Amino acid sequence: MKLYNSLTKKVEEFVPNVEGKVGMYTCGPTVYHFAHIGNLRSYLCEDVLEKLLRYCGYDVKRVMNITDVGHLSSDADTGEDKMLKGAKREHKTVMEIAKFYTDAFFADCAKLNIKTPDVVEPATNCIDEFIHMIAVLLEKGYAYKAGENIYFDTSKLDSYYVFGNQNEDELMVGVRDDVTEDENKRNKNDFVLWFTKSKFEDQALKWDSPWGVGYPGWHIECSCISMKHLGEYMDIHCGGVDNMFPHHTNEIAQSESYLGHKWCNYWFHVHHLNDETGKMSKSKGEFLTVSLLEEKGYDPIVYRLFALQSHYRKPLVFSYEALDQAATTYKKLKNRIASIHEDGAVDDAAVKEWHDRFAETVGNDVNTAMGITLVYDVIKSDLNGATKRAVINDFDYVLGLKLLEAPAGGDSADNAEDPELAAHVEEMIAKRAAAKKEKNFALADEIRAKLLEEGIELKDTREGVVWSRL
Ligand SMILES: [Zn+2]
Repeated sequence: MKLYNSLTKKVEEFVPNVEGKVGMYTCGPTVYHFAHIGNLRSYLCEDVLEKLLRYCGYDVKRVMNITDVGHLSSDADTGEDKMLKGAKREHKTVMEIAKFYTDAFFADCAKLNIKTPDVVEPATNCIDEFIHMIAVLLEKGYAYKAGENIYFDTSKLDSYYVFGNQNEDELMVGVRDDVTEDENKRNKNDFVLWFTKSKFEDQALKWDSPWGVGYPGWHIECSCISMKHLGEYMDIHCGGVDNMFPHHTNEIAQSESYLGHKWCNYWFHVHHLNDETGKMSKSKGEFLTVSLLEEKGYDPIVYRLFALQSHYRKPLVFSYEALDQAATTYKKLKNRIASIHEDGAVDDAAVKEWHDRFAETVGNDVNTAMGITLVYDVIKSDLNGATKRAVINDFDYVLGLKLLEAPAGGDSADNAEDPELAAHVEEMIAKRAAAKKEKNFALADEIRAKLLEEGIELKDTREGVVWSRL
C-alpha cells in the first residue's frame, strides 16, 4: 500500500512497525454540537483507510478519543471552552452535553456506514494519564509553570514546525481582535498542558493535580490516549488538515519529548469540504448535518458516494447540485447492480484477481474514485452474474456504499416481480401527488396511510416518491 505522508510530503510505501499489524489513531470529535458534514468527510475517509488496510490483510487496531473537556474555541488555547459553551446554550450540564452529542456523532457515523473504532476513549477517562505525562515533561524540562498554568516550552525543541508549511507570521496568536494573547507564555507557540488557574470561573469539570485543581489542555489528550492503547510507536495518525497546526504539531512536540524517540510514522490528513464561496463555516448559511440532508430527502450514503468520488487530499466543493448528481449516480448504479442475475457459480479465482486489482488501485494513496470506476468495470466485464456480485460485494467492504442492498423504491428488482402491485402503488402515488398539488393534504395523508395498511411505505426523496414493502 502507498500512502501520502504529511511529514515527508511524499507518497510512500506503507511499512508498519510490526509486520502485518497497524496501530491507527484518529482525533475524535469535540462533543459540544452536531457534527458538520465537513468534519464527517474526515471520518469517512479515515473509515475507508481503515477498511482498506484490513482489505489488504493488515490486523488493524484503531483508537479514537472523544474530546469532552479542554478544547477552547480557538485551537490555540484562547476563547471559551467549547463544552461549556454547548452546556450554556442548552441549559444542560457538560456531561449531559457530552453524552448527547457523542451519541449523535456515532448515529451520524452509522448512517454514513462509518465503522466505530476498536477503542473509543473520552478524555475525561484519562486524567491520571494526562497528569503523568505532564509531570514527566516538567521533570525533563520541556514544560514550565506560569500564571498557575502548566505550559509546554516549544523553545526546547530543535524543530517545532514538523509539517513544515506553517507561516509563522500568519500563525501569530493574538492577531484576531477577539483573541487576547496569553501573557504567561514564554514563546508564542507554547501551549497549555494543564489549566490550573481556570480562566472560566464556572468551569464545570475540575480535577486534583500536583499543581492544583484544574483541567487538561486539549492537545495532551491525543498523545496520552493513543499511547495508552497503541503503545510508544504508532503507525498512522489521522485527522483533518485543520488539525495539522497547532493540534498535531503540538501532539508530536509533547509525545516525542516525553518518549525521547520518534512517535508516529505516517500522518494522514483529509482536506476541507468547501462551499462554492470558499471554506465552509458553521457561522454562515445553514449548518449542514446528516439529519439536514435526510430532511431534504437524501440517503446519507449518497453523501458517502459524493465524498468517495473525489480524492481525500483535494478540497471538495459541496453544493446541492453536486449532491443531486451523486444521488442520480447512486440510484442508477444500484439499479444496474440489482439487475445482475445471480447466474452461474462464483469463480473464486476471478474474485481473487479483482480483489488484488482493487487493493493495488485503491491502495495507491486511497484512490476511492478509481475504486468506484472498478465497480463499473466489473459490471461491464464478461464475468457471470454470481461472480460479478461476489466481486462487488468484496469491493463494498471498503467502499461501504451498500451496493448489493436492494434499492428502495418502485424500480427495485423485488418490486418489479409483482407488476400488478407495482401498478396499484404507482396509481396511488399519482393520486397522492395530485391531491398534494391541490393542497388537499388530508387526502394525501389518507392515501399514504392506506398504503401503509397494505404494507407499503412511501418515502419522499429528491428524486421523487419511492416505495418499499414493509
Ligand atoms: Zn487529536
